[in-house]
Amino acid sequence: MSFDYDLFVIGGGSGGVRAGRVAAQGGAKVALAEEDRYGGTCVIRGCVPKKLMVFASEYSGMVEDAQSYGWDIKAGAFSWDAFRGKLYAELDRLEGIYRNILKNNGVETFDQRATVADAHTVRLADGTTKTAKHILVAVGGRPTKPDVEGAELAITSNEIFHLDKLPETILIIGGGYIASEFAGIMNGMGVKTTQFYRSEQILRGFDNEARDLVASEMIERGVDLRVNTNAVKLAKVGDQIEVTDTDGKTHLFDEVMYATGRAPNTESLGVAELGVEIGRKGEIVVDDYSQTAVPSIYAVGDVTDRVNLTPVAIREGMAFVETVFNGNPTKPDHELIPTAIFTQPEMGTVGLSEEEAREQEEIEVYSTSFKPMQQSFAGRSEKVLMKLIVSKANRKVLGCHIVAPGAGEMIQLAGIAVKMGATKEDFDRTVAVHPTMSEELVTMKTPTRTG
Ligand code: NDP
Repeated sequence: MSFDYDLFVIGGGSGGVRAGRVAAQGGAKVALAEEDRYGGTCVIRGCVPKKLMVFASEYSGMVEDAQSYGWDIKAGAFSWDAFRGKLYAELDRLEGIYRNILKNNGVETFDQRATVADAHTVRLADGTTKTAKHILVAVGGRPTKPDVEGAELAITSNEIFHLDKLPETILIIGGGYIASEFAGIMNGMGVKTTQFYRSEQILRGFDNEARDLVASEMIERGVDLRVNTNAVKLAKVGDQIEVTDTDGKTHLFDEVMYATGRAPNTESLGVAELGVEIGRKGEIVVDDYSQTAVPSIYAVGDVTDRVNLTPVAIREGMAFVETVFNGNPTKPDHELIPTAIFTQPEMGTVGLSEEEAREQEEIEVYSTSFKPMQQSFAGRSEKVLMKLIVSKANRKVLGCHIVAPGAGEMIQLAGIAVKMGATKEDFDRTVAVHPTMSEELVTMKTPTRTG
């Protein structure tokens, strides 16, 4: 049977574009459909604009620090308009790069929604159908809001990049990556920021000591973090939103943003009807090779809800191509993934938290928290954390947790050592880079806690 294409990719985000490009480079005839902008969540409404907003928001503190270092400078006002204009231009540039990657590698693109009609057929929004030997679903996810009265008044991370003006006050609901990152961004941009989190401490699942430090530093920098608090009702009052909290108290905000999780984009995609298994959260269930229950249909990235991170989607896309087009069955590796949370302060983490490791085996914890030189000189009280979790039995470093400026950059490098199976003694025999914050990772001599 002959098909229009060897591969039809649905979704032009990180995973889909990488898989389409690499398959085409290997000689496959590839098409890709994207209903929105090329680059997907990460480039258009996620990691990239978020990080640029983190950079923008961090300058507010830098002027004061510069004064402490002898600079005669004064902070002016932050112009959201000026920043947003540059941000849009940058996103246009990046989208152009993604389009060119596909074009230059001979991938045919369709700027419209595509759904799956049968095991080898894709239906485009204009009604045309295309056949393909393999279909790769890489349609990502979207932010969700809980079923709360008035929730429609609130924005999500999709809209935060498009505000006409910066609000004077904002409430951010949630305690995950997105909520905690945007609380720092808004606070740094001069917005009076409140964060509600329904449980005891934000960033559930990460190392407790690291979460506690991030939370206390966020509060120190001005975020009004209220834990064990949720919103039960939102109502419009004039230009503002009145929020009723779980204690029955009301608060007024200019904007409310929900960052309470994301859901896979599988609605009306057509795959469930074909026998592709859909999980409890709406995710496409795949095997270790990203293959669905329909052998010709594969899925990668957030739509599979495995580890929802761009570099992981890219790895899954590459492993798919290796498996299907290069005859070399390859499982994407989901173990020991280093990651950064761009809160202020930033957190970098790889491996097990102290709590997870202790459940598994006997451990030694090496942990130090101190005022770093640069901030201490500027008169700031802020602290950083360098922490290693070590297996008592085989001395391997099971986890590394860093809370510090630049923690994301540091954990990328520490991640290599941890992934290689480095022991505490391997860390110890590495000479310190002085004077740095991360030198503490190789100079901690006695365990803080054992057991
Ligand atoms: P998360 O799943 O990380 O966090 C959701 C948060 O919302 C949790 O704190 C959760 O509380 C809370 N929540 C869920 N339902 C409700 C509710 N009904 N009422 C109140 N609070 C609620 O989702 P995010 O949206 O923050 O991020 C989605 C994913 O995107 C992440 O898992 C991550 O993979 C990815 N991401 C990665 C980034 C990075 O690498 N730096 C940055 C941004 C996103 P509880 O803890 O109690 O469940």
